[in-house]
Amino acid sequence: MKSVRYDAIVVGGGHNGLVCANYLARARQRVLLLEAADQVGGAAATESFAPGFRVSSCAHLVYLFDPSISAELKLADHGLVWSAVDLPSVALSQERAVLSISSDPTLSAGEWMSGEHKRFDALMARMTRFASVLQNLYTRVPPRLRNRRGDIVALVQAAWRIRRLGRDDMRELLRIAGMNIADLLDDELNDDRLKGMLAFDAVLGTRLGPRAPNTVFTWLHRLVSRAPAAHGGIMHPLGGVGALCDALSRSAQAAGVEIRTGARVESIMCDADRVTGVRVADGEEIGARQVISNADPQQTLLSLLGARELDTEFVRRVRDVPMAGTAAKLHLAIDDLPTFVGVDPEQARGRLVIAPNIDYVERASNAIKYGEYAPQPVIEITIPSLHDSTLAPPGKHVLSAIVQYAPYTLRAGWGAHRDEFADCVIAVLAEYAPDLPDKIVERQLLLPVDIEQRYGMTGGHWHHGELGLERFWMWRPTPGAAQYQMPVEGLFLCGAGCHPGGGVMGLAGRNAARAVLATARP
Ligand SMILES: Cc1cc2nc3c(=O)[nH]c(=O)nc-3n(C[C@H](O)[C@H](O)[C@H](O)COP(=O)(O)OP(=O)(O)OC[C@H]3O[C@@H](n4cnc5c(N)ncnc54)[C@H](O)[C@@H]3O)c2cc1C
Repeated sequence: MKSVRYDAIVVGGGHNGLVCANYLARARQRVLLLEAADQVGGAAATESFAPGFRVSSCAHLVYLFDPSISAELKLADHGLVWSAVDLPSVALSQERAVLSISSDPTLSAGEWMSGEHKRFDALMARMTRFASVLQNLYTRVPPRLRNRRGDIVALVQAAWRIRRLGRDDMRELLRIAGMNIADLLDDELNDDRLKGMLAFDAVLGTRLGPRAPNTVFTWLHRLVSRAPAAHGGIMHPLGGVGALCDALSRSAQAAGVEIRTGARVESIMCDADRVTGVRVADGEEIGARQVISNADPQQTLLSLLGARELDTEFVRRVRDVPMAGTAAKLHLAIDDLPTFVGVDPEQARGRLVIAPNIDYVERASNAIKYGEYAPQPVIEITIPSLHDSTLAPPGKHVLSAIVQYAPYTLRAGWGAHRDEFADCVIAVLAEYAPDLPDKIVERQLLLPVDIEQRYGMTGGHWHHGELGLERFWMWRPTPGAAQYQMPVEGLFLCGAGCHPGGGVMGLAGRNAARAVLATARP
């Protein structure tokens, strides 16, 4: 039996679901948010993985979160405190000095690099201008290709923003947008460490290697964090990334959102092509005029709604979204700080990267093409307990590492090879921090298949489906459904699977709320 009727039910309390629910409640909608897990946050939660040790379970650094959302939802008033801001990115090296990029971004290396600083500055300045164009698109609901005034105006504005870059920049943006990052970096820079780290930035969270087309675009996606309207730096919330979602949750509740955790939605109900509510795992049916799903597009449309409610061509397009993730997570509880060779204490607080050159990143990416894991993976490391004492007992530390590439399905099966992969990652870490293995007291490895199971993300994919120029803006998650509204009336998506994609940004959630509210207007 359908019980209470809400204006909107949000399925999933990831950060985007929380943002979306909040904006709807602020517009005086009666909103219920149902989260399957026992806590909110999804892939941006803080969890315990060993007695006394906690870690940001998937996302471990915040760089894309939109500052206007922080301000509008008053997250500071709801307990959000940053334990670190403007963290540097540090390229580890076995043969040479480490190289680091501060948040300005200023490049520093422990040795003379003829002309490289100038080249780097020029490249970053240009790419930041391009990322600003993207950032502007990111904060808006994408237009449709139809002859309605609002859509035409949005398309003209998008073209104008590119034109406003000036002739040289415009030509350059159009030239490089579909290119691969390896060619761009080889054209512009000389230093292998620098190129390796930037190439890794471009492919983080994707299944692409740096020589794959589209990787300049995926780099620009990350560089949106440098656009003038963004925060600009790499940040870490006190209490781990989950603390950001806790603040979002408190803000949403203050705005009137009712949040239920441990409430898995089993199906989205509809009648005559119109959503009527949801059925929860315990059998309860809850009615609502609109259902907004923070789950990924395949789970929402094929599992929760069901293909029978959709036309065949649309179902085919949803099935075609590549969903297999490649990023694994390794968490280490350590009883003392390891020494990363050549890294000073200030740098150790930052983001340490193992991607010594472009070929190394490319070779790591090759493995997944054959259903294998990268024996020499690219790794992003943080030791958040250096600035956040809530994560580990006194004197002890937590090391959190994103490891690429780990296939969703290992050809030989993960069962017997899970520990072997964890050992292999630790061996690579030990090449840069030889004393690390002796300090490990506990370890946890999350493969894409584990991430799928724990956080309900199909394929364990960072972006809820691959991101690329062909799956961006008006084409995300599929053409004809890029405006958050799905073909069934009253059903919307609000997660990373829609525009502008993954990363802890909050923009998909806010844009989706705008799309929902636009349909409510007469
Ligand atoms: C290994 C890894 C590392 C990452 N590192 C970073 C990083 O450092 N920085 C960064 O910015 N991004 C990072 N990301 C990406 C980022 O975590 C995600 O893009 C982002 O968290 C997605 O947020 P979301 O709110 O759209 O979805 P999710 O976080 O996936 O939330 C969806 C929510 O819906 C719930 N749900 C699903 N199905 C149901 C159902 N049927 N009923 C009820 N609830 C349901 C889930 O439990 C979940 O809470 C990383 C991703 C991965 C996989």
